Amino acid sequence: MANANQVDYYEVLGVERGATADQIKSAYRKAALKWHPDRNPESKQEAEEKFRQASEAYSVLSDEQKRAVYDRYGRAGLDGRGFESSGFNASIFDEFQDIFGDLFGFDQNMGGGGRRGRGPRGQRGADLRFDVSLAFEEAAAGVTKQIHLTRHEVCETCQGTGAKPGTGMATCRTCGGRGQMSYQQGFFSITRTCPACQGAGQVVREACATCRGQGRVERERTLEVGIPAGVESGTRLRMTGQGEPGSHGGPQGDLYVFLEVKEHPFFERRGADLYSTMPISFPQAALGATIIIPTLHGEEEFEVPEGTQSGQTFRIKGKGLPNPHGGRGDMYITIRVEVPSKLSREQRRLVEELGRTVKVHNKPVEHSASFFDKVKDIFG
Ligand SMILES: [Zn+2]
Ligand SMILES: [Zn+2]
Repeated sequence: MANANQVDYYEVLGVERGATADQIKSAYRKAALKWHPDRNPESKQEAEEKFRQASEAYSVLSDEQKRAVYDRYGRAGLDGRGFESSGFNASIFDEFQDIFGDLFGFDQNMGGGGRRGRGPRGQRGADLRFDVSLAFEEAAAGVTKQIHLTRHEVCETCQGTGAKPGTGMATCRTCGGRGQMSYQQGFFSITRTCPACQGAGQVVREACATCRGQGRVERERTLEVGIPAGVESGTRLRMTGQGEPGSHGGPQGDLYVFLEVKEHPFFERRGADLYSTMPISFPQAALGATIIIPTLHGEEEFEVPEGTQSGQTFRIKGKGLPNPHGGRGDMYITIRVEVPSKLSREQRRLVEELGRTVKVHNKPVEHSASFFDKVKDIFG
């Protein structure tokens, strides 16, 4: 490309040095239409050269950074600054597609698998989802679960090529090994990935018997999932690389384990805190009592203080769930004083006797205290 060093990019596109990006784009569009090799069958070589020059000029002038370097130092400046060679290369046709794609309906995704270079693009495998249901205690303490799933894996017989071992590959007959198909549309030839070989340019000579040429097989797998303590319903664990295999050397997808935590018969969960309601009798409330309460680690004794009111809530610190951010939540116990709905003759006599001595001032309760003011801390 000796003469490329002499050409002035602005002259090539026929624009002023101070041209705007839009002017440059429009000038390139015109030049490319004029010099597209498909439009100049008689002077193909000259047209190709002009087309290259215009594309090269455009690739520099449409890039702010490159343009600034070019303005100051010329072509030589671009060569010395680690920019990709601005000579003719395949990517120019990609740029051509960039600029004309909107006009002529080029499909970037179909355009030869990748904007730079040719050949099939490695595609990442699909992600998979697996739902796991956990008992409340499992979620609280953390657990290792085994999950059984069916997924695709790379065929071991053929290493994913789809070819019977020892048979090798043959050139794709549909595209002649180019991996692409060209179609004529008006003045343009549109290039698409070959549907027969997906752009590889090669097809299997004889299909692998294990995977019937697919390169992947369905496998049942048992995986162990370490579920950390304190997870909630809706928690999603990602197992990197445990999804479907990629194609053409692309990476594997991921497996997402969605957790559902079952409700507990006693505990209501709010974040890392646990709430439960304990019924006690009127004498227990009035006199105080030691009762047995359920915790995550079995039953424990709890001292109900003398004169406890119905609806009063006690906080037992650190008896909640592990907090994902460290520490543990608390446990809240709300006391409900049960009033017997049926009394024996003896009980009725005793309550009546009590009623003669215990007086309650029957006036509305002021709603002053917030919930937390009423919570009594028990340092557990
Ligand atoms: Zn195979
Ligand atoms: Zn093909």
